[in-house]
Amino acid sequence: MSDTEEVNSKEPVAHPFRTLRELVEHVSGKALTELPQEDSGLAEPLPFPFLAIIGQREMKLALVLGLINPNIGGILLIGPRGTAKTTAVRSLLDLLPQVERSACYYGCLPEDIETGGMTAVCPDCAKKYAEGRPLTITDRVRLVELPLNAQLEDVVGGIDERAALLHERMKVRRGILAQADRNLLYIDEVNLLEDAIVDAILDAAAQGSYTVRRGPVSATYRARFLLIGSMNPEEGRLRPQILDRFGLRVLVKGLETQAERLEAYRRVQAYLTNPRSMVAQFSAEMQVASAEVAAARQRLRQVTLSDEVANPAIALVQKMGIDSLRAEITWFEAARAYAAADGRTDVTLEDLKTVAPMCLRLRRSPFMTEYINNQKGEETELAELLDELSQKTPARRARKKPRI
Ligand SMILES: [Zn+2]
Repeated sequence: MSDTEEVNSKEPVAHPFRTLRELVEHVSGKALTELPQEDSGLAEPLPFPFLAIIGQREMKLALVLGLINPNIGGILLIGPRGTAKTTAVRSLLDLLPQVERSACYYGCLPEDIETGGMTAVCPDCAKKYAEGRPLTITDRVRLVELPLNAQLEDVVGGIDERAALLHERMKVRRGILAQADRNLLYIDEVNLLEDAIVDAILDAAAQGSYTVRRGPVSATYRARFLLIGSMNPEEGRLRPQILDRFGLRVLVKGLETQAERLEAYRRVQAYLTNPRSMVAQFSAEMQVASAEVAAARQRLRQVTLSDEVANPAIALVQKMGIDSLRAEITWFEAARAYAAADGRTDVTLEDLKTVAPMCLRLRRSPFMTEYINNQKGEETELAELLDELSQKTPARRARKKPRI
């Protein structure tokens, strides 16, 4: 996201834990106190507190890193049903930072004027800009969930049938992707989604915008979002090109110890019985974590990665036989976010080691390795044949030297 984000200026409340990283790692161990029964008539559902999720350290860390640095390029949660994947994503609601977003239906931004002049925005926004009035408002990042039965038209938008009937003119309706701009887009069971929809989402995610064309009508929308997907591998594979587009890959397993499972049950039970009181028990820590996310986003711009740390990491990626450049882009961006969450502005080898598994797993492609190796044989053969050819015609050798 751009550099127009608002910093949460609120002072964090006093807390025994020093950094966001420590919060994520330790608060889930805290014990719940006895809750009074029942409080009915809750107007809106309260999300389960993120920090109250037992265990699942890697999943929580990945989600927080995504909030701090959307450049990690998406998060994929892989695991069986009932491992709190959807709960964890929804529980991010209380941690979401503030962003600047366009106040206009057409999505005009001041940066459009800076790059494209006054004609790059709508007349209303041009007038506002000239009068020195802001084109943006400060708003919280939202969690947009893709419905399971979504059709391509819902995702990218389409012709507004009502406008077409009423006004006899064509108008393009904004789809879910346009609503997801500067937000989180969550797709549960991403491996069950139609290929055309997945492709549309991934293209928009990669370009940060997308264009809808319906006959003579077309419209381009901004779509810069952090994609979060979850999948149960028992229910179907994910195409390799889609997997490559997810920066972080988390393997979400069931809780291992009896004590953890029992405590997880107790918390869910407390939440179902008395959500308000249960959420209140974690509100102090959640406030600190929320302020820390905002501070870490701000700090991220100063976080640097030295050549001394980067070079051995690239060597490791090469040694693993990973071709996709997205491996180190994700790895370095995740490590920068991790350093920022820890209150530092320099990435260490330790930071890289901590986030490495979620960045580098499931990156190797046995097919590509075999394909490239086979291809190497062909390239060598071709070079030899071309060499023979030039030896037979020595006079032209200098000019016809093969360039492989
Ligand atoms: Zn406008």
